[in-house]
Amino acid sequence: MVRTEVHRITSGTGFRLADHDPRSTKAFDGDKAAALEHQARCNARLEALQEAMYAEGRQRLLVVLQAMDAGGKDGTIRSVFDGVNPQGVTVKCFKKPTEAELAHDFLWRVHPHAPGQGEIAIWNRSHYEDVLVVRVHNLVTKPVWHRRYHHIAAFEQLLVEEGTVVLKFFLHISKDEQQQRLQERIDNPAKRWKWNDGDLAERQHWDDYQSAYEDAIAATSTKTAPWYVVPADRNWYRNLIVSQVLVETLEAMKIGMPEVDPKIASIRVE
Ligand code: ATP
Ligand code: MG
Repeated sequence: MVRTEVHRITSGTGFRLADHDPRSTKAFDGDKAAALEHQARCNARLEALQEAMYAEGRQRLLVVLQAMDAGGKDGTIRSVFDGVNPQGVTVKCFKKPTEAELAHDFLWRVHPHAPGQGEIAIWNRSHYEDVLVVRVHNLVTKPVWHRRYHHIAAFEQLLVEEGTVVLKFFLHISKDEQQQRLQERIDNPAKRWKWNDGDLAERQHWDDYQSAYEDAIAATSTKTAPWYVVPADRNWYRNLIVSQVLVETLEAMKIGMPEVDPKIASIRVE
């Protein structure tokens, strides 16, 4: 049993990031070995559920992944979706906006990447950057980023009411863990390609980012588009929680096979 609901935020009232320990493993009683076993089962289940969803072609799932640098977004996608048929699953990474994107409202670039019928869309960073990095670096004025909370909530409400299930994960690492992971990117030649000088500069703004995350999560957590604040210092625990939430969510979607014309059964292929 994985009690994922302990990490689910459905209302911003009283939300404080400091109450969420990045090293917590409180949703699961077993050890790492048991978690890996459980995750392998989730993986197989996810594979089957995604295939059914694709075959059914009637429902949509949006998965938003946010984290500090080295927070494990890529690793989560790799591990949780391992073995899942890439057909019907899209991953979109949102980087620094292009000129064309900056010439539009901040939701313009994300909306076309929302999932279609039967699809799972994974957003690696998202519209939330427009109340995170944009706020921390004063790329727009406070009144502008502040009203975006309301735009984001309304946008997600639109997606939900039009039939998209929305899940948002904040992979929550500690400052010490980030230090170790960034150092590892320097010390381990196999990881050096991940090194980005900008990450050191961003690390200087750690506290500002934490405040920005806290406010964004508080302002946009709802029952229908909840945030999961996933303790992410331990990769095995992070993967376990995200896998389990996906499986639970897809199971709750009651995916059925598409209706097939009964006459098909009598057809004989010569
Ligand atoms: P990795 O884990 O591989 O480093 P990443 O998601 O950090 O992946 P990068 O190319 O390193 O990818 O960084 C993308 C950068 O784009 C981030 O610093 C992010 O804050 C920035 N970014 C994303 N959206 C916006 C936005 N709307 N405005 C300004 N910057 C943005
Ligand atoms: Mg980066």
